[in-house]
Amino acid sequence: MSDDLCPECATPTISERSAEPWCPSCEWNLDRFDPEHGRHLGWARVDRRLYRAAYWLTARQFAELAGGPAAGASKSAARLVTIAASALLLAGEVALVVLGVWLLLKDFFSPVNILGVLVLAVAVVLRPRLGRLRDLTAEATEVDRGTAPALFGLIERVAAATGAPMPDVVLMGAEQNAYTVTVGLRRRRVLYLGAPLWAVLDPQERVALVGHELGHFVNGDVRRGLLTQSARSTLGQVAYLLTPDRGGDLVAQIVEFVGWVFSRLALGFQLLLLWTSLRDSQRAEYLADELAAKAGGSAATIRLLDSFLITDAVDTVVRREARAKQGAEAWRAAAGVARTRLEPQVAAMRQLSRRTDVSLFASHPPAGLRAALTATRPEQPAAVVLPETDSARIDEELAAHYERARRELATA
Ligand SMILES: [Zn+2]
Ligand SMILES: [Zn+2]
Repeated sequence: MSDDLCPECATPTISERSAEPWCPSCEWNLDRFDPEHGRHLGWARVDRRLYRAAYWLTARQFAELAGGPAAGASKSAARLVTIAASALLLAGEVALVVLGVWLLLKDFFSPVNILGVLVLAVAVVLRPRLGRLRDLTAEATEVDRGTAPALFGLIERVAAATGAPMPDVVLMGAEQNAYTVTVGLRRRRVLYLGAPLWAVLDPQERVALVGHELGHFVNGDVRRGLLTQSARSTLGQVAYLLTPDRGGDLVAQIVEFVGWVFSRLALGFQLLLLWTSLRDSQRAEYLADELAAKAGGSAATIRLLDSFLITDAVDTVVRREARAKQGAEAWRAAAGVARTRLEPQVAAMRQLSRRTDVSLFASHPPAGLRAALTATRPEQPAAVVLPETDSARIDEELAAHYERARRELATA
């Protein structure tokens, strides 16, 4: 708490984590640009503008969804634009390869051949990627169906309740995260559960998490389509190249070069596409949350989303326990203590997440808005109830996976 009053409504302003204060009541100053989180292009004035646009788009999307009925996998404008543009983009990629080869072979042994090599290098950097299971299993281990019947039973029940297909592969790793992807030309569905996240959730939160993740298989997520996924990977490379934190001078040079080859206009076009497809991704997250609530119940979904606000704190205590050679039970206990301790701050952190997590480059809406949207919907009972005993059985089945993750967490 700070002693200052909101200039708009005279409510005392608040702050969390040394952020610039805002008004908890009318949200004055909540949309303040924070260079620490909003730095993308490294050009303060542009970044500030982009942030403003992102804040506005995020708020508008939330208002639309909150005002309407629970949406299905409908055809949003962002989605249609993304699909059309993906086709164009892949055509551009092919054109780039053709141009590169032509320049390479034209008047062989002339300086223009070097240009051909550079164009081909850019084409390689921007090449579409469908993902490979092999890349995922390098960081995670497959959970065997035979040794984890309770876990697979749960996933089956959630799949039935949400109308989603079963994943082909279930992976567990040491990331404090969970995701689904569809990989390769065979479009294999993968569900990844990170041990440090999974282990600390209560039974219904686990149901909600699986519901959310499987929801991505049926919410029309543009990240999962063959065409859009490959185009997105190209767009992702553009964003990656444009993120100054990741590269420095070399990146600046490549960006300059890409801009020179494509012209500034084409680059701007690609950025617009990235932002459009990410808008649709954010929408897909809200839709997946609807399925989370359907499967695990609204209350558990909100608890799950609120836990995403304090992942840093949970990560700290889980690593501490892992280093002390403590297993999943201790992680959950320690995370529970952290969650209880931070409970009074949750409302403020939900608000603050809207300042810190808003970005044109973000694939997820701010966790605070996701919780808020679930809370505005009529309360849903859990379609799938996971009894404590079954949840404990799942933990027993995953013991070897937890131990592998524990060792990784302890050394990292
Ligand atoms: Zn105020
Ligand atoms: Zn998601």
